[in-house]
Order: sequence, then C-alpha cells, then structure tokens
Amino acid sequence: MTENTAVNADTATDAIFQEPVVDTPAQQVEKDEGGGIRFTDLGLDARVLAALEKVGYEKPSPIQAETIPLLLEGRDVVGLAQTGTGKTAAFALPALSTLAELADINGVSKDTQVLVLAPTRELALQVAEAFSSYATDMPDFTVLPVYGGSPYGPQLAGLKRGAQVVVGTPGRVIDHLKKGSLDLSNLQYLVLDEADEMLRMGFAEDVEQILADTPDSKQVALFSATMPKTIRKIAEQYLNDPAEVRVKSKTTTSANIRQRYMQVMHSHKLEAMTRVLEVEDYDGIIAFVRTKKETEEVADKLKARGYQAAAINGDIPQNQRERTVEALRDGRIDILVATDVAARGLDVERISLVVNFDIPHDTESYVHRIGRTGRAGRAGEAILFMTPREKYMLRQIEKATRQQVEQMHMPTVEDVNSNRKQKFAQRITDTIETEDLSFFRELIDAYAVEHDVEGEEIAAALAVIAQQGRPFLAEEMPEPKSKKRDRDRDRDFDRDDKPRGGRRQSEEGMVDYKLNVGRSSHVSPAAIVGALTNEGGIKGKQVGAIDIRQHFTIVSLPENELPGDFFDRLRDTQVAGEFINIKRDRGPKGGGGGRKFDRDDRGFGKKDFGGKKKFDGKKFDRDDRGFGGKKKFDRDDRGFGGKKKGRKKF
Ligand code: ADP
Ligand code: MG
Repeated sequence: MTENTAVNADTATDAIFQEPVVDTPAQQVEKDEGGGIRFTDLGLDARVLAALEKVGYEKPSPIQAETIPLLLEGRDVVGLAQTGTGKTAAFALPALSTLAELADINGVSKDTQVLVLAPTRELALQVAEAFSSYATDMPDFTVLPVYGGSPYGPQLAGLKRGAQVVVGTPGRVIDHLKKGSLDLSNLQYLVLDEADEMLRMGFAEDVEQILADTPDSKQVALFSATMPKTIRKIAEQYLNDPAEVRVKSKTTTSANIRQRYMQVMHSHKLEAMTRVLEVEDYDGIIAFVRTKKETEEVADKLKARGYQAAAINGDIPQNQRERTVEALRDGRIDILVATDVAARGLDVERISLVVNFDIPHDTESYVHRIGRTGRAGRAGEAILFMTPREKYMLRQIEKATRQQVEQMHMPTVEDVNSNRKQKFAQRITDTIETEDLSFFRELIDAYAVEHDVEGEEIAAALAVIAQQGRPFLAEEMPEPKSKKRDRDRDRDFDRDDKPRGGRRQSEEGMVDYKLNVGRSSHVSPAAIVGALTNEGGIKGKQVGAIDIRQHFTIVSLPENELPGDFFDRLRDTQVAGEFINIKRDRGPKGGGGGRKFDRDDRGFGKKDFGGKKKFDGKKFDRDDRGFGGKKKFDRDDRGFGGKKKGRKKF
C-alpha cells in the first residue's frame, strides 16, 4: 500500500468518542454486579484457566467476554476498545487455548503457529510477557519476542529452537522472513495488536506484506483503539468475514481514574509538582512532558529535590529505557518523566498517578496517558497542569473521557506542612507498631537517668538527628523569575503546537477589572497605577497586567487582597479627566455568557500576531484585529462546542 496508507486517526477517534454510548452485552453483564460472565463460561482450555487463576483476574473484561468465544470458534475478529481494556488477553487466551488443544491432538509442534504484530519493542515485550503468564500450565510452550534495535543473534537462536508464539514488530518480522529465519508456513493465527498505532508508525506496508504472505487458512484478529479508514480497508481485504466487536470507551478506560486539573503557570509547574508529591498519596508516578529535553530537565530537577525520578524518551537507548521501566516496576524509581511516544502502552501496575505536566496535544493522547494508571482494575489518579490559556482543552477532555475533570488548587505551604507533620507522626506510629524498640529503649532509659532529661527532650533531639539538617517545614514558594520569560515560554509552545486558545495570561489569584478610560483619553499605565495606589490604597506591585484599549482599560488585581474600601475610595477617581468607574470585568456581553469569547477577543496579541505583523501601538485594538479565518478562533469555536454556554469559571 502506498499513499493511501496515511492514517487520519483523529476522525476515527472522534467518531469513537462522540458516538452515543451503547453498552455491549458484556458491559451490561458487567454492570450487573451479582452475575456476570466468568472465564470458565468462555470455552477456554483448562490449562489456560488454571494459569488465569494464578494471574488472579476475577472475570473477563467486556472485550474479552465478547471476543474470546468468537476467536475460539475460529472466526476472524476486529476488536475495537480503548487502551487498558484487556485486549492482550482477549487474543492471547484463545490462541493459547487452541495451541494447547492442537498439541493434544497432534503432539507438541515447535512450529510458529501464532504471530502477533505489535508496534513497538515495549509492546512486543509486554505482549510476550502476558503470553508467558497465561501459559504457566503449558510446559512445552515457548513465546519469543522479536523486535528491531537489538542484535539478531539471540532472536535467531530462539527462532531456531522454535517458538509456537512469536511476538514482533512488523519490520523485524519481515527481516526474519527474508532471512528465512522465521517460517510461517504452519501459521494458524495472526494478531495485529494496536493496529492503528502500527499504521501510524508507518508499518502499513510491512503489515500488509505479512498478511499477504502467510497461509490463507490462518485466522486473523485485529485489535485497535480506533478504526481509521485504512484499518477498515485492511480488515476488508485480508480478514475473512470478520466479526466486529466494539467496546465503547465509556466505562472502560477511565471509570476507575479520578481526573483533576490544576491551573498553573508554566514557571510554577515544578513547584506545583513537588507540592502534589508532598500531599498526594502515590505509589508510582508517570509525568508527561512535551519534549525529550524536558524529560531530562524535569527528572533532574525532581532528583535534585530528593525524589527518585528518571527520564524516558525516544532518544534513550531501548535497553536503558527498559531498565528504567524495570526500576519503576520494582520501586527503585518512583517517578518516570516521559514523552508520549516513550510511554505508549506502558503497563506498570504500580503507577497510581499520572501527571500531565504539559498538556497533551490532543484528547487521544490524553486518554492514552491517563490509561497508564488504573491498570488491572486498580484505582488511579490523573492530574493535568494547565496554563490559563489551555483551559479550552478541558471540555474536549471531559467529552473524550466522559467524565468530569475536577479542579484542584495548588496545595498551599500550609497544606504541605500539615502533611509533613502528619507523615512524621505516622512514621512514629508505624515504627512503634512494627519495630523492635527494646535495644534503643534501653539506651534511652540509661541516657534519661544519667542526664536527668525528660523523654520528650530526647525524642526531640532524635528527631533533629533524623532530619539530618534538612528543614522540616516548607517555605513559601519563590516568585517566578520573570513573567515575561514565562509568557515567551508559553508562546514558544504555541509556535510548536497547534494554535491554542485564549492568549491572555491571567495570573493565578488575579482578577480583571475594567476602567472606563482608554487610549482615546491618552491615558498612560503610570497614571492608572498612580490612581490605584494613591487613591485606592494598594501597593504598586499588587497591580498586574494593564491592557489599555481604545475606550477602556483592563487591569488585573489580586482577587483577595484588595482593601475593603477599595471601590469606595475609587468611586470619584478620575484619570485623564475621566471617571474610571472601576468594575469587575465581565466582558462586553456581560455575565458568564460571552466570557470565554471575550477572553479571546482581548488583545495581548502575542502568538497570532507577534512576529508576523508590525504593530503601531494599535495591536490591542479590537477593531483592528481580523477574526476572519484565524485558526485560533476556529479551534476555540470547535473546542467549546457552543460558546453560548461558556465555561463556568476562568
Ligand atoms: P489493552 O491492550 O487493551 O490496552 P492490556 O491487555 O494491556 O490492555 O491490559 C491492561 C491491564 O489489565 C493489564 O495489566 C492486564 O494484566 C489487566 N487485565 C487484563 N484482563 C484483565 C481481567 N480480566 N481482569 C483484571 N485485569 C485484567
Ligand atoms: Mg494492548
């Protein structure tokens, strides 16, 4: 296949997200708490069931309940379900079951009878591991992962010894076929796992070649999170009357994942992250950033703050990446800082929290990201850091996940400190409960007698020792280095990415006020600051951004720190001969209604205009700005779907 292999997954994904939810029978069964399909109902071989018993799955997931019987029957199947719905077992269990039964009839054959194609080495390894875990009661069974980027030697040796199941990346499988090291003449069962991703990675041609060059009699299962056209075409061309099983994303992906967002400026993200780490309970964490460089930077900074963190990104050699993931799995590392690509498909049960340090490019990535937690039916948490301008993504995300994303606030220093005290107390309790204290108790008793000191005194001294010179209490967070830098930074992001929403960086804790005096009265920022400080009684540094327009001015002021009589004092204040008539800015349309649009309308034109167009001091003038055909607006309009409704808060 050539040019038509380009995949437009977006449309497909949107389609999945937006379709009305119709529960599959299995989902209906799942909701019915009492009953439900059991693995033993599906017709699987006893050896597979015995292994499942050890793995500890309680009951089949919806995609498993539906596809396993079909696959056992010998049908070709197209299985569509979101990440984390258990697709691996959906194809692995019937494959193994069939292998076991074939072996009973024909004796154990070392021929490769099952081939699974997966997009990446990590996923190939993961699938191979899953196969092994479901095959613990099949002693003569071998699964071999083969993938690019690693030496041929061991793979060749493995293939020579014979493996009934080969799990490989398409490129490497083709290489082995060409070399003659992989013989698929007795192939019974071919699986395309994460098919959409394989095509997106440019494997369409390889996949088709493998489909075409393997025995016609084989059974084919295609699993995918989305159904772009190219996949439908492949299914039509190479699958034999496939049964299509769709499991909607509603309850599967994220039902057990609590999602929250925190509005935070870019320069505060690291601080926000550390505070989250201080106050949240977590086991393993994965934090997503946009760039490879940032994975290193953020990981380094977290390490410098005493956390066990490591970076993974596409530039890090694969064996090292694997070691890092292993370290996360066994607890030597707690925080993995990753790019989307490096973390795709990662399945580490320990991950209890996903931090979207940088917002993902699209909702699909978001769903993939948060799918790294809540594995194996556990509960998971997801936190999204969002700069004010990125807030337009929220609704899209809520729509995609069919769940509300709650707002959370950056934990305050008091939160952090009360948490530290609590943890301190808990460590004492735990130690008293679980450790043998007798030895030290004797030492302390002896000390107390000898020095005539109270127990509390000694305990406090020991706490100081335990603290090893580190301050116990956290201090107020440092001010961001420079607002300008922060904004430039966000602007850089915008340049790299698609156009983003509202450009206005309204600082945290700041609120916009409208003054009834503008450029038409030749007002200067200094005059405004002067009026607000002299007449209003606030400090100059409390005055935030000032945006002078033709007939009015928008000023940000602290939300909670204005003197009680601030507005009274300013009631009769004039600037440049006009009553300023200061009011909370509700936007031109008033009330919540047009609020969002108002934001976007407002100047601060950086991204869309900066650098492209020369300004003559009029850049903030509404009337001067062309709305027509600006991508940004397209995007916003789409994102908010019906801007009339608006968002509740900003
Ligand atoms: P997908 O391929 O759909 O993204 P996976 O096959 O990787 O999902 O499975 C996600 C997680 O769910 C894995 O940790 C897997 O062990 C676990 N899992 C799969 N099936 C079940 C089940 N029936 N019960 C409990 N956990 C399961
Ligand atoms: Mg999978």
